[in-house]
Amino acid sequence: MVLRLELRQHVGAPCRPIVSVGEHVKKGQLIAEPTGLGANIHSSVYGTVKEITETAILIEADEEQPEEFVKIKDTESNLDAIIEAGVVGAGGAGFPAGIKFKGDIEGGYVIVNAAECEPILAHNMAYIEGHAEELVRGLKYLLEITKAAKGYIAIKPHHTKQLIALGKATKNEDNIEIKYLPNMYPAGDERVIVRELLGVELEPGQLPSVAKAIISNVETVKNVVAAIEERKPVITKDLTVAGRVKDADAQTGRVFLNVPIGMPVSYFIDQCGGILEPYGEIVLGGPFTGKHGELDSPVTKTLGGIIVSMPLIQEKRKLGIICCECGAQEARLHEIASLMGAEVVAEERCKRMTDDGRGRYRCSLPGMCPGQAETVLKLKGKGAEALLISNCED
Ligand code: SF4
Repeated sequence: MVLRLELRQHVGAPCRPIVSVGEHVKKGQLIAEPTGLGANIHSSVYGTVKEITETAILIEADEEQPEEFVKIKDTESNLDAIIEAGVVGAGGAGFPAGIKFKGDIEGGYVIVNAAECEPILAHNMAYIEGHAEELVRGLKYLLEITKAAKGYIAIKPHHTKQLIALGKATKNEDNIEIKYLPNMYPAGDERVIVRELLGVELEPGQLPSVAKAIISNVETVKNVVAAIEERKPVITKDLTVAGRVKDADAQTGRVFLNVPIGMPVSYFIDQCGGILEPYGEIVLGGPFTGKHGELDSPVTKTLGGIIVSMPLIQEKRKLGIICCECGAQEARLHEIASLMGAEVVAEERCKRMTDDGRGRYRCSLPGMCPGQAETVLKLKGKGAEALLISNCED
């Protein structure tokens, strides 16, 4: 099998390859380095570099794949281990974790985001159920690194098994608490978490650091533990496959833990019995914010979901679209409209979307969603006969 390791799996510039075509590489070997903002990329398999393109390193995997991996080099601090291991925000953001955890929040809060916010995705909960103590160890490392005073694990109250596991794992931890999030989308939005847990309403564009908080996804913390305790680079990913696949049990979501980064998504769809025809598209990510993908799209450090969608309805009426910060953005809605064969004649944003001063529209009150009747009337006035919306609620 050929694995495709993207050179940009993070916020920042693409990495620079440091291997050559024809070279044999080991699992865990550093194969690309950042050229600015970014994170190291390591081979997830033993294999031979087959091709290097502008955007990726392609590696033909060996038949034999021993468990052992090349450990990251010795570092002076745990923060340096996180940087060396190429840890990035695994929940989808992809921000280099080493930079985030350098932030000065002395006396503040590290919050583990265990919202697993997007519907269907279940791999974070599967991990917590079996590894709650490991997650708590990761939070303790982060408290040490950031000098934060309190650690919170933010989770929705209906995850009973995970709450029991976390309750046991935190029972002797005086400065770590489990906190409940509301059972709504987008409960995992950083500003919603800060509002719910700390009572601080961040302005659009403000970071949690304004409230002396750093928020980190469950799998990012898992990778922090692996980097510090096993000297393991980020070479695997947890994900959920769901939708129109043939195995009935997989249709509502099947979890895969620790899969090699770079594998094609088709492999995991096949593991779920293959595609149930007819289908619409392969969505990479969750239902709200996922993007269009292909069967040969690779697993990356930030991929959480592989969803085989229903066939898209074909729509001949003229469409109006309404964009929301926490759902599909303008480009994605246009893409869906085009897959539906529909013409977009008007666009509006949810009325809570405001310019953050940097030219980006952000929601002023995420999760406190208004009715959209006024916006719908505006679209109608512009000739829209039907609506395509990405709004969280209405
Ligand atoms: S208020 Fe509007 S922009 Fe904000 S989360 Fe709700 S629907 Fe999205």
